[in-house]
Amino acid sequence: MDVAALTDIPQQVSTGALPGWDRVDELVREAHRRYADDRTGAVADYIPVLAEADPELFGLAVIEVDGGLHDAGDALHPFSIQSISKMFVYALAIQEHGHERVREIVGVNNTGLAFNSLMALELNAGHPMNPMVNAGAIATTALMPGQTSVEQWERVREGLSAFAGRPLSLDGVVYASEAETNERNRAMGWLLRSYGRLTGDPDDVVDVYTRQCALSVTAHDLAVMGATLADGGVNPITGERVVSADVCRDTLAVVASTGLYETSGEWLFEIGLPAKSGVAGGIVAVAPGKGAVAGFSPRLDRAGNSVRSQLAIGHLSRALGLNLFASAPSATPRSTD
Ligand code: GLN
Repeated sequence: MDVAALTDIPQQVSTGALPGWDRVDELVREAHRRYADDRTGAVADYIPVLAEADPELFGLAVIEVDGGLHDAGDALHPFSIQSISKMFVYALAIQEHGHERVREIVGVNNTGLAFNSLMALELNAGHPMNPMVNAGAIATTALMPGQTSVEQWERVREGLSAFAGRPLSLDGVVYASEAETNERNRAMGWLLRSYGRLTGDPDDVVDVYTRQCALSVTAHDLAVMGATLADGGVNPITGERVVSADVCRDTLAVVASTGLYETSGEWLFEIGLPAKSGVAGGIVAVAPGKGAVAGFSPRLDRAGNSVRSQLAIGHLSRALGLNLFASAPSATPRSTD
């Protein structure tokens, strides 16, 4: 990400609240306008159908925890959720099995390697290290309850739909395209199994994982999903409790250090928010207690993160005072003794 593009946006500090619906709306529109002309990056093509995406699409959405909505550009254009599903399936897995068990099985540390690295598994005796790269996500999907992979898939689809506040459906074309070309992910499933870190049929687990990545969402949906994690696990639009507040905290902590693959450290340094990206061009960033910002635009940087989405979210993080690490000296008089 070209961070120079953000340096003229004054860094507002967190006040614990967003600055009011009108101001948020104005800033969402401004951020959308400002990066619409950025044509850096390239559309993903390792999943054949993704290469056909229109690179000009650009949507931006903010959902506030009080239910305030802001959409700009192509915020209602559907695309496949891809890796962003990992964050929400991870939350469902912790809800189901608890903090300790998931931590032990999947891990919470960054691998420092690409999202589809097999080497990361080999270097760590098959321990997946973190749930936001493919190996860890496959191990996490394997934790979904269900007697069969069909039941596990239904659990994933229902869970992610509850986060989105509407029934999500599979994009069959994306699923078919990825299922035909996902040799690396299948290899990861079998490697996990060879280390005794995955029970069940690896091909079945990878199939559920491939389906979860092909769920069709919009930037607006992603913002609602993220806002549920910002709102202690309650969907701010439907009012439904999806996961516990502890699960939100655990999920966001892992996502903060791993959500943008090997550039996660750079992202946290520049933007200061937990965020998760996917290769179809979506990114969602979560501001705990405030809301979520989601972007969608298919051109990606080398790590696989949407360029325009990063810039627009970075803009809003600065202008809305979302950066978790930004502070100003206290205005209250200090004691002098
Ligand atoms: N479905 C994709 C894969 O497994 C997801 C990767 C991504 O979004 N980074 O390769």
